This record gives sequence, C-alpha cells and structure tokens, in this order.
Amino acid sequence: MTAVQVPGTPVISDGRLVSTSPATGDEAGSVPVATAGEVGRAVARARTAGQWWAGLGFTGRRTRLLRWRALLAQRVEELAELIHVEGGKPVGDAVVEVLTAIEHIDWAARNARRVLGPRRVRSRLILAEFAGHLEYQPHGVVGVIGPWNYPVFTPVGSAAYALAAGNAVVLKPSEYTPVVGQWLVDTFAEVVPEQPVFTAVHGLGDVGAALCRSGVDKVAFTGSTATARAVMAACAESLTPVLLEAGGKDAMIVDADADLDAAAEACVWGALTNAGQTCIGIERVYAVAPVYDEFVGKVVARAERLTVGADSADLGPITMPSQLDVIRRHIDEAIAAGGRAVVGGPAAVQPPYVHPTVLVDVPESASAIREETFGPTVTITRVADADEAVRRANALPYGLGGSVFGRRDAVAIARRLRSGMASVNSALTFAGMSTLPFGGVGDSGFGRIHGEDGLREFGRAKSVTRRRARSLLPAMTFERTPTDVARIVKITKALYGRR
Ligand code: NDP
Repeated sequence: MTAVQVPGTPVISDGRLVSTSPATGDEAGSVPVATAGEVGRAVARARTAGQWWAGLGFTGRRTRLLRWRALLAQRVEELAELIHVEGGKPVGDAVVEVLTAIEHIDWAARNARRVLGPRRVRSRLILAEFAGHLEYQPHGVVGVIGPWNYPVFTPVGSAAYALAAGNAVVLKPSEYTPVVGQWLVDTFAEVVPEQPVFTAVHGLGDVGAALCRSGVDKVAFTGSTATARAVMAACAESLTPVLLEAGGKDAMIVDADADLDAAAEACVWGALTNAGQTCIGIERVYAVAPVYDEFVGKVVARAERLTVGADSADLGPITMPSQLDVIRRHIDEAIAAGGRAVVGGPAAVQPPYVHPTVLVDVPESASAIREETFGPTVTITRVADADEAVRRANALPYGLGGSVFGRRDAVAIARRLRSGMASVNSALTFAGMSTLPFGGVGDSGFGRIHGEDGLREFGRAKSVTRRRARSLLPAMTFERTPTDVARIVKITKALYGRR
C-alpha cells in the first residue's frame, strides 16, 4: 500500500495521483497528474478529434455510442467493483449507478438527431416569404468536471449528451475517483480508437481550474456550490458558457393522505443510500401533524435495520474523509439546539463510517436543516399542513430536487416546490428517467443535463432564414418608399393593434 495518512485521501507521488479505498486504504490505482500545459494540449488534441467526431454525423456517432453502451453493459460487474473499491459505495448501489448511466448513453445516442438535427421552422405572416431552418451545432470541446459521489452517473450525464451532440469531451474527474474516470475514457477509446474524442486530465482542483481556462467551448460542472462559483468566475474571464450542477438540500413532504409505509421506505432510501452522499438525497422531511408520529416510527424501524461496513452492507464509508467533520458538526449542533436523535446521534460518527441518524425537533435555523450535510442523516419536522411544508421546503437558497408523498394534492404540491425536479410517491427517480431534464435553481445551479434540454445544452442553436419569394412589402431595405412605410404602419395596426 502506498503511504497515506487517512484511507481514501488521494496523494500525489512521483507525478501520479494515487487513489485509495476510504474503507481499507488499499490502492485503487493511480493516474498521471496533468500540468496546466498538458491540459491545454489535451484540449488542442480534443479540438481536432472533435472535428472528426462531428463529421461522423448523428448516425456515425450513434453507432459508436451504442457500442460503448454495450461494452459498459457487458462489463457492469467490473465497473461496479471499481466504483466500490475506489469510493466505498456498496456494489449493489454501484450496479444501479452504472445501469442509470447506460440508459442515458442509450437515450442520448438514439435521440440526438431528432432533437438537434436540422429542421424547418414555420415562419409567420410577416416574413412569410422566408423559410426558417434550425439546427443545434456542437460547441467543439466540452470540459466536464465531475464529483466523486456518483463518479459514473454524473460525468456520463454530461459527457454522453455532449458526445451525442457532436462535441469532444475532456473530463476532469474528482481527485477522489480518478481511476473510475480513467476507466470510462479508456473503454470509450476501445470503441472509438481513431481519435481522442473523450479523454481525461487528472489532478486536484487546480487542474479543474486549468481546464476552465484552457479554451474549451463550454464547461459542464457538477460539484459543490462553492466550487461552482469559482468555476463560473474562471469561465467569465473568457465568456466560456457554463452549466452548473451544484449542491442541494432536498426536502420530502409527507401529506395526510400518504401511504406511510411507502413514504418511510422512500425516505430511508432517499436519505441514506450511498451513505447520504447524494446531491438529490433527502436531507429534510416535513410531515403533517396527523401522520407525523406514525411516519417517524416507520422511518426509525427501517433505518435501525440497515447495516454499515466495507462489504455487503447497506451503507459504505464516507468517501471524502474531511466530510466526516461536517456530518459530525451538523449532528452536534442539531442536538445542542434542542433536537433529538431517534436513530444514531453523535456516536454514529465512527470514521470512516457514519451510522444512520434520524433527527427530530431540530430548529429550522440549525445547520442540519440549512446546510448540505452529505451524510446518512435526515431531519423530520412536524408541520401543520402542506402549505407550511412547502413554505419551509422552499426557504433555502438551494433548489435541486424533492419528493412528495400523498394522493389528492401530491402533484400540485410537487409543482409548488422551488426546485428543478420532484418525484411524487418515490424518491430520486427523476434522475434515472432519461427523457426528463435534470438540474436545479438558485444555489443548486442552472442549465440542464438529460432529456431534450440536456442535448440542447451541448449544441448552439444555428438559425437560418432562406428567401423563397420576393417581398411584396419591402421593409428591411433602403429601397422602401414613404408609401411602403405607411403600409407597414397600417399592417402593424391591423395585425397587432386589436386588444
Ligand atoms: P467539489 O466542488 O469539491 O469538486 C467538484 C469537482 O470540481 C472536482 O473534480 C474538483 O476537483 C473540481 N474542482 C475543485 N476546485 C476547482 C476549481 N477551482 N476549478 C475547477 N474545478 C475545481 O465537489 P465534490 O467533489 O465534493 O462533490 C460533492 C458536491 O457535488 C456536493 O455538493 C453535491 O451536492 C454536488 N453534486 C451535485 C450534483 C448535481 O447534479 N447537481 C450531482 C452530484 C454531486 P478535486 O476533486 O480534484 O478537488
């Protein structure tokens, strides 16, 4: 084993980033660290490769992306094991993560032409003598910066859509999961050996910053809100467009007519899967008074049953060791502010693990309610009714996802959540539906991956008008006469002047 102080903390040794398991400290692998110059050269190579890739057209790209999808599906166990070793995630969760990523590759490949390809656009009465054409052309090179918590799902959610749209991609994986990132680009190179269309550069945050300044044509960032700000500031220097998928503090609302068993099951899953290290994880629950006690009881019973450990457990270790301090602080401050732990509590933090913790009676001002915890903890708060639940859910600057359990009003409540996504009578499911856009509002970022919006995010609209007849009323020419202008005034009033 390479000498590391804390298992899971990456170290740089002899110009290589050495990645270790947060559970055992065993080495997961190592990758070369890129200098700023090497990042620039990777982007330059990608630019040439991107022209070749764009030239393949939608059909050529679709064939190759579907081949990559098939390769991932055939090697799902190998990739899941690597995710497990490098990040600590239980193998079953890793399998589900890979499946979700594969589905996104499949959908993006199959739908890129329909969504982005050239099409005619109807003109209106004015300019009726012109035809409209619209297509979405690739930006060129897209820089994808990814986090460690879903090291396949998150970068693929951007990269597959960017590639399907005809861009080359340079990926900067998180320093905590570089080996998984390298695996992704290596397997892509197996099916697209001709050109470096999808490559990776590795290192710490400075490599991500170098990628932002490398002349890429767009940056798709997934990570914390604080880093999202730094990324946007760096990209502002060159007006490089950005897509920001940042943090969240998603709420679940449990209404009076909810199926409480289903709600409790989804709450425990949504809050504790991947040991709570999920951007769209449920971190707060607002349950209406009539069902509050019964709901809490059902959550407690399920959370207590979960196992924690390195292998074959429900919850694995905390991937980024420094996150343990944040989780500990949120639990401690919640208790100090008058909250109670009905499962877990301060003693639940046993590095590198945190056992499930369910907190009640926590004031809304506490960090456990206001800040992203990113651990296997959840607060449950009693509210008078759904209106109060929505008000509290919407009170934070974050607005990523959310969940509502109920029958009669559940969809209406979901629509009132200030968030980019919501799931009714389930948790997190919108992430796997490739036909739906994914992204947040406020401190959770902007722009969308997945679905049609996700494809359009990686193409720039190219609009073309084409004359198909002579203009009967010359308007956009110095050759129009005062009589023409008088006619234009008349037409303006006739067409738009009525109330
Ligand atoms: P970070 O913001 O710490 O890092 C994200 C990526 O940015 C990493 O690759 C990191 O590199 C890189 N980076 C760090 N500094 C810079 C910089 N100055 N310029 C450019 N890139 C930089 O997030 P985490 O990896 O800790 O991921 C957890 C966060 O991601 C949570 O807040 C979570 O909510 C969010 N997230 C959001 C999702 C969404 O879709 N909205 C999905 C998944 C997670 P390095 O690791 O080397 O420091």
